[in-house]
Amino acid sequence: MAKPTGFLEYTRINAPDRPVSERLRDWNDFHTDLPLEVIREQAARCMDCGTAFCQMGLALQGTPSGCPLCNLIPEWNELLYKGLYEQAYRRLAKTNSFPEFTSRVCPALCEGSCTAGLYGDAVATKQNERAIIDMAFENGWVRPRPPKVRSGKKVAVVGSGPAGLACADRLNRLGHSVTVFERDDRPGGLLMYGIPNMKLEKWMVERRVRLMEQEGVEFVTNASVGESIPIEKLRREYDAVVLCIGAKKPRDLNVEGRACKGVHFAVDFLAANTKSLLDSNLKDGSFISAEGKDVIVIGGGDTGTDCVATALRHGCKSVRQLEIMPPAPEQRPASNPWPQWPRTFKTDYGQSEAIEVFGRDPRVFCVTTKKTDCDENGNVAALHTVDVEWVDGKMREVPGTERVWPAQLVLIAMGFLGPEEALIKELSLEQDARGNILAAEGAYKTSAEGVFAAGDARRGQSLVAWAIREGREAAGAVHAYLAQKK
Ligand SMILES: Cc1cc2nc3c(=O)[nH]c(=O)nc-3n(C[C@H](O)[C@H](O)[C@H](O)COP(=O)(O)OP(=O)(O)OC[C@H]3O[C@@H](n4cnc5c(N)ncnc54)[C@H](O)[C@@H]3O)c2cc1C
Ligand code: SF4
Repeated sequence: MAKPTGFLEYTRINAPDRPVSERLRDWNDFHTDLPLEVIREQAARCMDCGTAFCQMGLALQGTPSGCPLCNLIPEWNELLYKGLYEQAYRRLAKTNSFPEFTSRVCPALCEGSCTAGLYGDAVATKQNERAIIDMAFENGWVRPRPPKVRSGKKVAVVGSGPAGLACADRLNRLGHSVTVFERDDRPGGLLMYGIPNMKLEKWMVERRVRLMEQEGVEFVTNASVGESIPIEKLRREYDAVVLCIGAKKPRDLNVEGRACKGVHFAVDFLAANTKSLLDSNLKDGSFISAEGKDVIVIGGGDTGTDCVATALRHGCKSVRQLEIMPPAPEQRPASNPWPQWPRTFKTDYGQSEAIEVFGRDPRVFCVTTKKTDCDENGNVAALHTVDVEWVDGKMREVPGTERVWPAQLVLIAMGFLGPEEALIKELSLEQDARGNILAAEGAYKTSAEGVFAAGDARRGQSLVAWAIREGREAAGAVHAYLAQKK
């Protein structure tokens, strides 16, 4: 235990976010860091409870609970408090391939299951994780560690999101020769072209990719497997293939006027923005601008929030985020007890920013889209909605609540329907009821010989921490497969 009386002596302190007026003028990380002495006191709040729910990484009654990576949280909190920083890093790196990503973008499932959070404030585990990994990079403790011996086996990983990166990293450390094929021009998957720069600065993704290259992983970008590279070629030339292709098929808006110009999928909007930002600091104009526009984001989830924050940085005229469901409760309901992840009402960074700029929360709950209007040039001009109510789990429209919203940019952030079908069809892979690639957790083996699947492609759209876990575990499964393969 870090300090037996720590949780009594110190209250939780959150690092303040950068002021909205300042951060809206750039695309840099909006978080700040706490001084190391404060971080150590925060680590001292960890009670090292006998059963550390924070690190269990399980679904309880279908709700994810605790760290998906089973990070050894009480152990590294203790080392952090004692000033044994390099050891804290070594402990963290044992279970987490990329703490620099999770400590920035993870919703901190650990904190939702923290025992200190049962009656008070949870330990600030995510902040502590960030302090450890940032210190590790600053002090040169994160160094390329190529394997000493090569197995002579070759593995192709398709897709370079967190699942593909984690899988490639672990397989490489186990001595196999790994090539990662990525359709985009930069590796990283949604770490690169999904999550915006102000949540995860892209030089961090590039730094990790460079490290992996120095360790021997080969990256082939602009390589669409199934199109520019036949999948059968990979199956012939490699001892195993791992599909980490994500679940990028977006749910569409099937209403009149969908074809209006200016109605886009959220990820297209976010990806184009990041690409243009990295290529030219948005000088090339190759992005969908929200400047001076009334923006409607359809979907109240995290992707929608990223759109709100991006539109604000473009200088939109107004922004609304429409959500079909009612707001989550302020307090945990009885059906969502600790140590489950609390499904309570949260105001995320994009909404806080909109509140400061426009004086109101951009979210509108219990509303559904009926149609969009185009102007004479085919550009979207307005969006029609009607309010809904939920009775016994069923939705019904409320008569007389029709509204028309001015909109010159509409962003569809209504979730994802699973992985793209092309590779699945070509390999005749079995799918689960939701269209994901069928491969049992732990085995990660698909119905095609020597082909494995991990990450969102297997479990459906999820979280970075889950993708890393799946990538690591799939690497273990491939390693076992290669060991028995002649
Ligand atoms: C906008 C947005 C914001 C998000 N924010 C967060 C967040 O803040 N925190 C969090 O924990 N999670 C977040 N998520 C979810 C998280 O990003 C995903 O769960 C995670 O990236 C999944 O990892 P993955 O490796 O399985 O797939 P992906 O990251 O989707 O990577 C799949 C990769 O495969 C490539 N690919 C696909 N098909 C082929 C092919 N045929 N050939 C070659 N390459 C191919 C794709 O180009 C892509 O690069 C967010 C998701 C979105 C959409
Ligand atoms: S990866 Fe997420 S859940 Fe795990 S310790 Fe880090 S912030 Fe917590």
